[in-house]
Amino acid sequence: MPFTFNIPTNFVFGPGSVQKLHKQRLPGKKALIVISSGKSTRANGYLDTVQDQLTQAGVDFAVFDKMAANPVIDNVMDGAACARENGCDFVIGLGGGSSIDGAKAIAMMAPNEGNYWDYIYGGTGGGQKLKNKPLPIVAIPTTAGTGTELDAWTIITNEATNEKMSGGNRNTFPVLAIVDPDLMSTVPPKFTAYQGFDALFHSTESYINKTKNLMRDMLALRAIEAVGRNLARACEDGKDMAAREQVAFASSLSGMVMSVDNLCSEHSMEHPLSAYHPEIPHGAGLIMISRAYYTHMVENCPALHDRFIDMAKAMGKEDAKEPMDFVTALVDLQKACGVDDLKMSDYGITPEEFPTFAQNARTTMGILFKMDRIELTDEDLVKIYTASFK
Ligand SMILES: [Zn+2]
Repeated sequence: MPFTFNIPTNFVFGPGSVQKLHKQRLPGKKALIVISSGKSTRANGYLDTVQDQLTQAGVDFAVFDKMAANPVIDNVMDGAACARENGCDFVIGLGGGSSIDGAKAIAMMAPNEGNYWDYIYGGTGGGQKLKNKPLPIVAIPTTAGTGTELDAWTIITNEATNEKMSGGNRNTFPVLAIVDPDLMSTVPPKFTAYQGFDALFHSTESYINKTKNLMRDMLALRAIEAVGRNLARACEDGKDMAAREQVAFASSLSGMVMSVDNLCSEHSMEHPLSAYHPEIPHGAGLIMISRAYYTHMVENCPALHDRFIDMAKAMGKEDAKEPMDFVTALVDLQKACGVDDLKMSDYGITPEEFPTFAQNARTTMGILFKMDRIELTDEDLVKIYTASFK
């Protein structure tokens, strides 16, 4: 069960921790603060708080406030130009996963020439190596789900080709992550659920992939426990800070899971949904396919049965004896969070798209299919999409 644990991030966690930003060693003299194109980061006062902290630390800043909910190449290139024009020497991602992933991609492009897609591996990406080291990155999440504050990866969409792909390298690990559950208390219930399930699936996918990894097992089971037992409470009462803290912890743990190990193909299967229909939040897409996906894995892979029972127990089903108890626990949690009836058809998806989705999943994130414990054929993928369709 070998592993390499190398997460080079100063990880500051806990309620009120954003107030400690000015005491941290910051990696430059002028920050580009990357926030979403929505209103919430300003309206909730989080941008003011971070600006105030930087002022206390004697650090100058500029703001880039045009990151889309599903970031696209243009956002990255505009942000990189903004960093250069303002002479920024590091980047702060403040907000949900999109702001932080966007900040990482901007950090890559600010000191480098060409187009972001030149540096993407796989699909239509150019596969080039970055000539210059990315700017240092600070991550301050205001949602609990992606775990991107503790991994090196970034997800950006190429609108021209409908490819939603991963990028990044060891140099896009944030140097500092401030995870403050207080910043998450304003997330509405629906999004709390979508994001929390994303965190859950980062750990469940890793726990059932084909690698053996003691560190991953420890991190993933603790994350599954923390989401499984607290997400419904965080959805019911956004001010339940004990529940928020556990879900935030789970999200960061799941980020660590992705740094010491990998996912499997559930994430590959979701990406076409939100690449072709960008209004689908990533977590909602995962929820839509999860029941059929994990049922397929239980039915076709006896070698995973003990692992499914472990996960059912972690989620709070202490008396779990059957692998399908995990799927029951999963659906129960979706009901408790009010997201058990998400419909693909509400987002304009039609079953005619499923063969295209299956193709896209393989060309853009084929690597994750290699992580699966059993081989999934194109027919299997269409079958899972079809079983998920409402
Ligand atoms: Zn995810």
